[in-house]
Amino acid sequence: MMYITKRMIEIRNLLQKVGQSSTVTLPSIVVIGSQSSGKSSVLEAIVGHEFLPKGSNMITRRPIELTLVNDPQARTDYGEFPDLGLSKVTDFSLIQKTLTELNQSVPESLCVTDDPIRLTIHSPRIPDLSLIDLPGYIQVAGENQPRELKRKISELCDKYIRGPNIILAISAADTDLANSTALQASRRVDPRGERTIGVITKMDLVEPEKGAAILTDKQYPLRLGYVGVISKLPSQTGLFRRETGNLLAGISRNEKSYFSSYPSQFGPDTGVNTGTMTLRKKLMQVLEQTMSSKLQETTESIQRELEETTYQFKVQYNEQPMSAEAYLAASLDDFKHQFHTFATSFGRPQLQSLLKDALDQKVLDQLAARYWNRPIEDLTVALPEPDSIADLPKADPKSAYWHRQLDAACSGLTRLGVGRLAATVAAAAIQSNVDKLLDKSSFSKHPAARKVISEAASTVLADRSYATSDGIEISLKPYKFDPDIQPNEWAQGREHVVGVLQGELEQCQAAMKSLENSVGGRKKLKEVMNFVDKARKGEIIVEGDHPSGAGGFSAALLARGREAVFLRDRANIINMRIMAAKSRQCKTLENKYYCPEVFLDAVATKLAQTAVLFLNVEMLNDFYQRFPREVESKLHEHMAGGGLERFAREDPKVRRHLDLIHRKELLELVLAKIEDLHRLPGAVGGRELAD
Ligand code: GDP
Repeated sequence: MMYITKRMIEIRNLLQKVGQSSTVTLPSIVVIGSQSSGKSSVLEAIVGHEFLPKGSNMITRRPIELTLVNDPQARTDYGEFPDLGLSKVTDFSLIQKTLTELNQSVPESLCVTDDPIRLTIHSPRIPDLSLIDLPGYIQVAGENQPRELKRKISELCDKYIRGPNIILAISAADTDLANSTALQASRRVDPRGERTIGVITKMDLVEPEKGAAILTDKQYPLRLGYVGVISKLPSQTGLFRRETGNLLAGISRNEKSYFSSYPSQFGPDTGVNTGTMTLRKKLMQVLEQTMSSKLQETTESIQRELEETTYQFKVQYNEQPMSAEAYLAASLDDFKHQFHTFATSFGRPQLQSLLKDALDQKVLDQLAARYWNRPIEDLTVALPEPDSIADLPKADPKSAYWHRQLDAACSGLTRLGVGRLAATVAAAAIQSNVDKLLDKSSFSKHPAARKVISEAASTVLADRSYATSDGIEISLKPYKFDPDIQPNEWAQGREHVVGVLQGELEQCQAAMKSLENSVGGRKKLKEVMNFVDKARKGEIIVEGDHPSGAGGFSAALLARGREAVFLRDRANIINMRIMAAKSRQCKTLENKYYCPEVFLDAVATKLAQTAVLFLNVEMLNDFYQRFPREVESKLHEHMAGGGLERFAREDPKVRRHLDLIHRKELLELVLAKIEDLHRLPGAVGGRELAD
């Protein structure tokens, strides 16, 4: 029974998963022969299917590692390409097409490559065998073939025909054996002919005497002998029609009928071996024997590899276990912990200050629009326009114009959509904090998972956004009609707004500085500003916006000059307003028309306070509760179907750790399997297979 080959093939498949670095090699049968020697036909006859790339221009450019698995359970024969994830391909013409494509994927400049195509074929009718089909030797390179093709093929074959592999040397009966490239190559590496099986194809093309003489060749004696075959069916007669999976039966019948017609050359007493069935049996026996003779050696090298791996596990990782699940759980725990710390430090006061900052900007916008920007463009006011805000302290306290200005500014503030603003500001702050936490967490090394978590935050936030924003608007309704400011609120507003104005002033100054730098210094900017001022006062006539500029200044320079004049005027106004806010006049609430800055600041504070009550409950607390759950569930989805393993392996440190453990486990498994084999009675022999 072919126990050893079967198990050893299983073991080899496991070892392939151990990775490149495994030094354990198990014997295979390598098939070599010149082009057109009939190599493909022999292989197809053994498998019982046509599946190899064909065509006059077809040069095999990659080795095909062919594993035959005797599978009594298989209802139909099928092939699998483990590296492509293609399994259970029952259509052998599709296998042929795939092999052709894989073969053609090798660029011609490379000629050939030693990167093998792995193909496994399952069938109840085939023996367990491990075969490697190599590119056929070429005699003379064709017109369109690179010169080094011949050499490269030969080098590739040399790599594979080393021991412990068994060489299946194919030569055609109608060519002189002395010229057989396959036999020449095998002699170089196996001079005593101990691990070479000679296959003589096309026996039908020579006289029976000549054929028999080749099979009993004394010039190139091989311990494992020669087998003569006819791997081509005669013309498609009904008897030999190629039925699926029945190729071998046809070939075998044809061979029997041919060889039995010449009993004196090929009969049982002649001692010559003929027929594909005989060849197949021989392959099984030889492989089984070679495998079992390598058992001890293989066991020892696996033991050595396992010892080395165990040692590495100890010194590198102190035998610390690791799994993708554990890594994810630890990463998630850590992230949740960081999130919890953030959640305890980010609450109402933080939200309030963020929102107030945003509203401060809106207050400045209202002030600029209603008071600072010149000329004052409120066309709805049918009252004589006061010159500028500089007149405000002297204005009549009952001036309808200034009353109107303040009311408009206040309503502009309360009706600007504070609900939306508050929800947006809060969501942006939370999102940016989550993103910062992610950057500091181990998820930073996993872009896809990081995105899942970040998007989980966006989803939860977006979910509450409308309701929160509406809720806030409703709660702010009273202020839209009567923002009732108390004296203490006024005092606080006065103190605060001075800081805001000072901040704005600093920004104006900084912008001015950068303008100076951009035009090449303060002096230059002053010159342009002078020109702009004069033009505005009408002292200089500038006709339109001349594209090439005016007064010796380019258009770009003039634009900067205008900007600088605007900034200077803005700074002057702000300076003046800071003084006003600090003055005695602005000390009391009664003078609110003189001090719109203070009034608007106090209103903004009220808006922020009220909005935050709602935000805190509707958005923040809701987020703190739902986000961790959402993360868990979204990550769970993301990790399904191999995602977890991919995730863990993105971190090179974890990948190395996992690889080593995986390797160790596989080697342990392989060792257990191979030790089992030692316990078997060393049965070596062929088994009859169902045809
Ligand atoms: P490869 O290039 O070595 O793979 O050779 P093929 O298997 O493609 O065979 C080359 C040619 O020889 C094809 O036309 C086959 O049909 C033919 N051939 C293969 N084996 C035999 C055989 O035993 N007898 C005869 N008459 N022709 C064969």
